[in-house]
Amino acid sequence: GSPTAKFVCVGEAPGQTEDETGRPFVGRACELLTKILAAVDLRREDVFICNVLKHRPPGNRNPAPDEIVACRPFLRRQLELLQPRVILALGTFAAQTLLDTKESIGKLRGHVHTFYGVPLVVTYHPAALLRNPGWKRPTWEDVQLARRLLDRTSDGH
Ligand code: URA
Repeated sequence: GSPTAKFVCVGEAPGQTEDETGRPFVGRACELLTKILAAVDLRREDVFICNVLKHRPPGNRNPAPDEIVACRPFLRRQLELLQPRVILALGTFAAQTLLDTKESIGKLRGHVHTFYGVPLVVTYHPAALLRNPGWKRPTWEDVQLARRLLDRTSDGH
């Protein structure tokens, strides 16, 4: 992703392919994320993609609370440097970490939150979408909402 991108996606953690290549979202969930972004006219080069965890949890297990706490300052600093106009949190770990809440993703999605003043939209993780096609429609709505926020704030300043 471009370091000048004003649309930032935050995922969960690097998977095996991501670990090997050092790039975020290059595995199977990546293709779906690329399609979701394309649906609102965003190319991979138009967005910056990062993860909550900066390392791969062995065996793709869920991030542990202490790992999230350890990585959180790096994520916060990344976002501070990027100064995005919109943040799209992909999945439970990104949403709960950025918003510092235990609320479920079903409750968090569909609304505009803020992260240090930056509009933040929550949606399902692309890997979860692969397992639950029924979440495609709400995800589509969330991404459209994020796109509108980007358009609203992209007037040259
Ligand atoms: N790849 C990533 O980089 N992050 C995810 O959350 C999933 C796959």
